[in-house]
Amino acid sequence: MDGIRVVVRVRPQIGDELSSSDPAHERVVECDAATGSVTVAAHRSKFDVVLGPESTQDDVYASVAGAVSEVMNGINACVLAYGQTGSGKTHTMLGEGVKLPARGAAAADGEDDADDDAAMLPEDSWGVIPRAVAHLFALVDTAEAEAAEAFEATSPARDAPGQAAEAGAQGAAAAGAGRDEPPSSSITTVACSYMQLYNESVLDLLQHGREARPLTIHERKRGRRAEVFVRGLSEVRVTSAADVMRLLEVGRRNRKVRATEFNEASSRSHAVLQLAVEVETPNRRGTTVIRRAKLTLVDLAGSEKWAASAKRGSTRVREMTSINRSLSALGNVVAALTTPGRTHVPYRDSKLTRLLQDSVGGNCRTAVVATLNPTAACADESTSTLLFADRAR
Ligand code: ADP
Ligand code: MG
Repeated sequence: MDGIRVVVRVRPQIGDELSSSDPAHERVVECDAATGSVTVAAHRSKFDVVLGPESTQDDVYASVAGAVSEVMNGINACVLAYGQTGSGKTHTMLGEGVKLPARGAAAADGEDDADDDAAMLPEDSWGVIPRAVAHLFALVDTAEAEAAEAFEATSPARDAPGQAAEAGAQGAAAAGAGRDEPPSSSITTVACSYMQLYNESVLDLLQHGREARPLTIHERKRGRRAEVFVRGLSEVRVTSAADVMRLLEVGRRNRKVRATEFNEASSRSHAVLQLAVEVETPNRRGTTVIRRAKLTLVDLAGSEKWAASAKRGSTRVREMTSINRSLSALGNVVAALTTPGRTHVPYRDSKLTRLLQDSVGGNCRTAVVATLNPTAACADESTSTLLFADRAR
C-alpha cells in the first residue's frame, strides 16, 4: 500500500563493538541500498528504503520528508521508529547534540523568534523530529505567504492604496507600514502535545511528572472524519520550531522525574509527539474553510524480548507484557493495512494503536523506520525487527 513506507536503518558499530575481537561484536547485518535488501543471518528482505551504517541523518529525513509535507495538504502523517533498545531509535528520531533552547528572557517577550528559528536550522547530527518540525514551520510560512499573495492579487480593494503610493517612495513605505498585519487570507495554528504510553496508560509529558495521571482516549467527528483525541491532554499553541523544542525539553525533564520516581526506564515506554495543524481560509462567500491535519512522531519502546528470568507479577513482567501487546497490535494493524482485501484493522487491541488510529492507514501517510544493531549478539532481535518491518510492506 502507498500509505506505509518502510525504511530500514542499520547503525554503525560503536564503542567496544569496533575494537573487540569478541565474535558477539562482529557485524552480521548486510545491506544493499541499490536493491533495497537487508540480510541478517539466513533472513533476507526487501524494503522501500535501506540505509546502511554510513547513512546520514539527512538521508533518513529525505526518506520520510514526503509524509511531513502532506500535513499541509490536510493529510495526517506519522513517523515511527521501531527496534530493540540500543539500535538507534532515539538517535534517528531526535539525534545527537540537539540543543534544546532554554526559555530565556529574550525569547519570553516573543521578539526573538527570528533568532530562535536561526538556531533551529538543522544541523547534521539532528534527527527526524527537529528536522520535521523545522520543515513544517517552513511549509506554514510558505503557505501563508502564498495565500497572502493570492489574496492581494484577487482583491480589487487592495489596488487603490498601491496607486496612491505612487506619490513617492516615502508614500509607498507609509502604505506598507500601515498594515503590519499582512492581509493574509489564511491563518495557520499549530498545537503541540507530547505524551508517553507506559503500561497501557497515556501520560501527559507537558504536565509536571508527579501530577500526571492516566488520560483516556476518545473519538469525535470532525467534518466527515473521525478524530482520535486524548481527553485532558495539554495542547500548547506553538509558533516556531524553537517553541516545539522547548516543549520537548519540558517533556524530557518530566519523563526523567517520573523515571526516577517510579524506577522506570525510558526504553520501556512509547514517546509520542503530536503537532495538530489547522488552516483557516476565508472564502469569497464569506464563510471559512478549516483544514486540519496531525503530524505524529513516535519513538517506540524497545522491541526486545524480555529475559525469561524476570519474576512473575513483577513490574518488569508487567512492562514487558504491555510493550509486547502494543507492539504486536501495531504489527497486526500494519499487516492488515498492507493485506489487500482485509477490511478489519484491529486498532482497538492496544492504547498505542487506538491513539494512532487516525494517523496510520486510511488516507494517512506513515513511515516506519526500523532500526537495527548490526552485531552478532543482536542477530535474533534484528531478525525479529525485520519480520515486523516485513509485515508493514
Ligand atoms: P535506542 O533509542 O534504540 O535505544 P539509541 O538511539 O539510544 O538507541 O542508540 C544507542 C547508541 O548508538 C547511542 O549511543 C547512539 O549514539 C548510537 N547510535 C545509534 N544510531 C547511530 C548512528 N546511526 N550513528 C552513530 N551512532 C549511533
Ligand atoms: Mg531510545
